[in-house]
Amino acid sequence: MKTTNTAIALVCMLLLAPVMRGADKKVCFTIDDLPVSVQNDTTLLFERQVTTSLIQTFTQYHIPAIGFVNESDVYNDKMKVDSNQVDLLRAWMNARLELGNHTYSHPDYNQTNYRTFTDDILEGEKIIRPLMAQYHKKLRYFRHPFLSIGETKAKADSLTRFLTSKKYIVAPVTVHNDDWKFNDAYDSAMVQKDTALMRKIGTCYLEYTQEQLDYSEKLSQLLFGRSINQVMLLHANAINRDYIDRIAQIFRDKGYQFISLKEAIKDKAYKTEITYYNEYNPAWLLRWAASSGLKREQYENWPLTPEFILKLAHLPLYYK
Ligand SMILES: [Zn+2]
Repeated sequence: MKTTNTAIALVCMLLLAPVMRGADKKVCFTIDDLPVSVQNDTTLLFERQVTTSLIQTFTQYHIPAIGFVNESDVYNDKMKVDSNQVDLLRAWMNARLELGNHTYSHPDYNQTNYRTFTDDILEGEKIIRPLMAQYHKKLRYFRHPFLSIGETKAKADSLTRFLTSKKYIVAPVTVHNDDWKFNDAYDSAMVQKDTALMRKIGTCYLEYTQEQLDYSEKLSQLLFGRSINQVMLLHANAINRDYIDRIAQIFRDKGYQFISLKEAIKDKAYKTEITYYNEYNPAWLLRWAASSGLKREQYENWPLTPEFILKLAHLPLYYK
């Protein structure tokens, strides 16, 4: 009898091992530039397909994602609110997902003065704040366009004070997969109806996502000696219409649990002091690494975007 119990316990341990290994891994999915970031196909049908695909995957995988909105994209050419675009945002709310402010017109704070930038933030909440209120939700989160927090400490501190005064919480980023570059390449293949090339780009996109996640995990271990809660940046674009479920699967296969932004930033890693500022806009793990005094060669070994993707996307090769 004792032998049987031991055997059962052993089998249970073996079955649970993969789950337990990944139990400390958590990620929040964040989607920028809502309602959608589409390029060549700007029909409402396509925009709805992109939105529906993302929301279906988030629902299926129980991903409490948050979408960051640029309200300038919610207006039509005559500067009237486009109800179809509002409906795309409403679809997020109906799926119990959260929205955040990503400024009105996506300016780069490192290239913009404080007054113009903060005016743009306030302009960017006119539609989503009342929309969220209809769902009894409060607008809480802000994501810096281009991840530009300010090129000097003084400028960054000014913005932090402004955001705090408006009760905004900053949404950091610790993992990205340059989806906008892959999307540029994918979109051009889509225009040419080159399905073989679309598949090739898609496969490469998944491999690159895996590499970027590995890189963020290594940096997390290097800086904190553990897996911190990761925050993943994506966009509502053509390539994610077709690959968002595979992206979610990559995280699930690595044992990640999907959590909200509120949960993610409870990790004390997000209290790490930033002392490194410059005109470039690295994600938070790199910013922390640069602030920590680590040598550049210890952390500046991120995976490079393949050249064929950059060529197809008509991007300069230094964008690697
Ligand atoms: Zn953006």
